Parts: sequence; C-alpha cells; structure tokens
Amino acid sequence: MDFPDTLRCSACGDPITGAGYLPAAALDDGYDPHPADAVCDACGFNDVGMMGCAPELNDVTGPGPADVLLYVRTTADGVEIVDKKA
Ligand SMILES: [Zn+2]
Repeated sequence: MDFPDTLRCSACGDPITGAGYLPAAALDDGYDPHPADAVCDACGFNDVGMMGCAPELNDVTGPGPADVLLYVRTTADGVEIVDKKA
C-alpha cells in the first residue's frame, strides 16, 4: 500500500489529525488511496455527509477510480485504516 503519512481535508483545508475519510480504489492486495479527496471527520459529518451521518463514497468523490471509502485514523506512525465502506 502507498499511504501518505499525513492527510489534508479537501473540504476545509486543515490537516487531518485523528479520524477522517479517505476514498480509495480497491486493489487485489490493498488499496490505492486518493488523498486529494480526503475529508476530516468533522467535515465528513457536517459538510459532506448528511448531518450526523457518515458520508457515502459518492458524497466525497464523483464518479472515478475510487470504489471504497476508508475510515482512517492518523497517528504518529501514519495513516491507519479503521473501517471501510464500499
Ligand atoms: Zn475538514
């Protein structure tokens, strides 16, 4: 996998510290992330998704190569996948 060490929210422009959402293409052996479309947890819930609901993949990115939305957490070691939704 080729995950960036840091992510920046595409909605508010702030660095993502803590949880966030990262669209990615599913590969046979992992994911190909699209960090340019990442959103932070707050924007994912309030601006991108419906208020109080996690965003759907189509809320974050238009039709394209991404086919899963990863719920990630950024730590001192980099980006860790917490959950995913297709
Ligand atoms: Zn944001």
